Amino acid sequence: MAIDIFGNLNNPQVLVIGVFHGDEPQGDFLIRKYLEQNENTNIAFIPRLNESNTRVNKNGVDLNRNFPTKNWELTEKNEFFGGEKPASEIETQFIINTVEKLQPSLILTLHAPFKVVNYDGDARHIAEEISSIIGYPVEESIGYPTPGSFGTWAGIEKGIPTITLELDEEINVEELEKPVFSIFKMLEFFSPLA
Ligand SMILES: [Zn+2]
Repeated sequence: MAIDIFGNLNNPQVLVIGVFHGDEPQGDFLIRKYLEQNENTNIAFIPRLNESNTRVNKNGVDLNRNFPTKNWELTEKNEFFGGEKPASEIETQFIINTVEKLQPSLILTLHAPFKVVNYDGDARHIAEEISSIIGYPVEESIGYPTPGSFGTWAGIEKGIPTITLELDEEINVEELEKPVFSIFKMLEFFSPLA
C-alpha cells in the first residue's frame, strides 16, 4: 500500500491530511482539486490516509484512535477500535514518520460531519481564522474522550498546533471548495511567528 503525499516536501510549514476516516471522503476530493489548480504550493498534502470506504481501515482500526499517546487504550472492537497496540497500523506509522521528517509548524486534518473547528495545542488563533472563513464555531474539544487521537499525539504531546476541521457532509462537496480553498490559501503564508 502506498499513501500519496504531494506539494512541498522540503521543509513545509503546514501539513494537511485528508480522510483519516474512509467514510469522510471530502478531504481527498478537495485536496486533489486544489493541487490541480495550485502546482507551486508551500503546503504538504496527504489527500487520503485511509483507503477503505468505512470509518475504520481495512484491519478494522480507527486510525484516529491508534496514535501512541499516554491515553491510548485497548478497547472493544467497534468502529472506534484503536488497534491491538498503539501505532499498529501502517497508516499511523506513515503519519508519525512524515511528521517527524517534515516537522511542520501546523497540521490541519479534514474530517466530517460536525461543522466545527477543533484544535489541540497552541492553535486557538489559527482556529479562529479558519472559523471566520468557513463559519463553523471553534471548539477546543469534540465533547467526548478520544484516546489515541491524532490531535492528542501531535497537538498536545508533540506540541505541534493541530486543527481538526469537521466539514459539512450534507452539502455537495463542490460547495466546500470556496471556503476550504480560502483556508488553504491562507495557510500558504502561515508563519508560526505571526
Ligand atoms: Zn473523522
